[in-house]
Amino acid sequence: MIHLQEVKATLPPEVELVAVSKFHPAPLLQEAYDQGQRIFGESRVQELQAKQAALPKDIQWHFIGHLQPNKVKYIAPYISLIHAVDSEKLLLEIEKQAAKANRVIPCLLELHIAQEATKYGFTPEACTALLEAGTWRQLRHVQIAGLMCMASNVDDAVQVEEEFHRALAYFNEVKARFFADDPAFCQRSWGMSHDYPLALRQGATLVRIGTAIFGEREY
Ligand SMILES: *Cc1c(COP(=O)(O)O)cnc(C)c1O
Repeated sequence: MIHLQEVKATLPPEVELVAVSKFHPAPLLQEAYDQGQRIFGESRVQELQAKQAALPKDIQWHFIGHLQPNKVKYIAPYISLIHAVDSEKLLLEIEKQAAKANRVIPCLLELHIAQEATKYGFTPEACTALLEAGTWRQLRHVQIAGLMCMASNVDDAVQVEEEFHRALAYFNEVKARFFADDPAFCQRSWGMSHDYPLALRQGATLVRIGTAIFGEREY
């Protein structure tokens, strides 16, 4: 029993839902597929490979977790969006593997906005430095399509919304400065099961929701 329709009913029509299916078995994904869901988010390469092989071919697979550069080659032939690019090294490896696969792979740069020290991602300063350096302009097989972030995992809604607000303000700054002529730079991936209503108020275009759809994961 999944809660896809209940979650969808809470989203404005222009916001895309990434059904985060990591750790859930393929039949549960098939159930969501049968109810019309086409975008699924996974965070482990091996698990994604198995599900991609087993499930319908018109699914758009999003990689939402930390991605090791040496694993890009496995998913490059089919991945629709890589949400969490957190180093230039990873961006360059995606370029290389996408070229081999003769594709352009849309990517989001992961912002480190949360207070927790353990999370991956670029600080706004580091992200600006990467964009100023300009190597990315030469890449023909990656398309920087926006930004992704995770808020702090705290109960304080004011703090969480403030973090999403900072991400939105930074997105607008980057858009104006580096991507004003590029309509493809348009995605803001923020919000998970417990905080997506706040993310929606701060301009999310993609929400990554697992537990609220599929229930608790069994690790
Ligand atoms: C697992 C995960 C999610 C989904 O989390 P839920 O709390 O189950 O909605 C979203 N984003 C990322 C990056 C994740 O790893």
